[in-house]
Amino acid sequence: MQVHLAQPRGFCAGVQRAIDIVEMALEKFGPPVFVRHEIVHNKHIVENLKAKGVIFVDRVEDIPEGAVTIFSAHGVSDEVEREAKNRDLPVVDATCPLVSKVHVQVKKFEKAGREIVLIGHQGHPEVEGTAGRTSQPVYIVDTVEAANNLCVCNPDNLAYVTQTTLSVDDTREIIAALKKRFPSIKGPSTTDICYATQNRQEAVLKLSKDVDLILVVGAENSSNSNRLVEIGLKTGVPTFLIEGPAQIQSHWLSGKDKVGITAGASAPEELVEAVVDKLREFSGVKVVNQPGISETVQFKLPHAIMNPPANFPTQLASSN
Ligand code: SF4
Repeated sequence: MQVHLAQPRGFCAGVQRAIDIVEMALEKFGPPVFVRHEIVHNKHIVENLKAKGVIFVDRVEDIPEGAVTIFSAHGVSDEVEREAKNRDLPVVDATCPLVSKVHVQVKKFEKAGREIVLIGHQGHPEVEGTAGRTSQPVYIVDTVEAANNLCVCNPDNLAYVTQTTLSVDDTREIIAALKKRFPSIKGPSTTDICYATQNRQEAVLKLSKDVDLILVVGAENSSNSNRLVEIGLKTGVPTFLIEGPAQIQSHWLSGKDKVGITAGASAPEELVEAVVDKLREFSGVKVVNQPGISETVQFKLPHAIMNPPANFPTQLASSN
């Protein structure tokens, strides 16, 4: 069996930065460190960090006074930020800078007095955080149909932003539907879909041309991983989302000579390797690394973790 590995796949710069922030916080201040929401949507990462003393909570009110607090890569609303500030919690914000960029756009459109349409999935933490960056109501749409049925207060004074991890094609169609209905709607100057989402989607499209089965390594609640599955399925190649090797079902492999593997932006490479190892149990495997974009994006770490302000606990001696 040939196993084709998509390029690029797995960790993006925002996920790597968020994990680095948590690791650095553990090293500098010692456990426990509190993280609001899963730092990134991957059980494997979350379980590893729990074992090192990270406590994941859903609400800021569940974090004890003075405890080091980290906001996840998905970003938070103004209200969450305010709550942590009111309690003087020592916060390190691990929001991906590309999500923060969308937050800035929301503020800009709010200031210009525009109603905001957010193209994204209701209930996703990134969407909740972005929608919570304005005190005005935000219209959330995730399909062309929803865009076609949208009722707004002021059709001539609208703006849209998008979740960073949607399908590039779906977003294009939804934006076109919005522009058709609301010709004066304003959008961001460049797309909000992040480079990592776009690159992984293009890589899965390429992969689909060379294989007869695609396995996407990623979590069920990972938006970008689910989009990769949708794209694989759209090409007509059977495509399955797996958290790791244990989810592979032998009947998927029946009659398949070329299996493609990719991984969502929050899935670590060790899971991809474990999946390849699992495939070796079914047949001899020849690994083919697909040609593709090599990513060099890196984001700076936040000031609060590099030079912790006065409200942070004393740093451990070994980290000084
Ligand atoms: Fe940032 Fe994109 Fe990674 Fe999300 S997928 S954390 S927006 S780089």
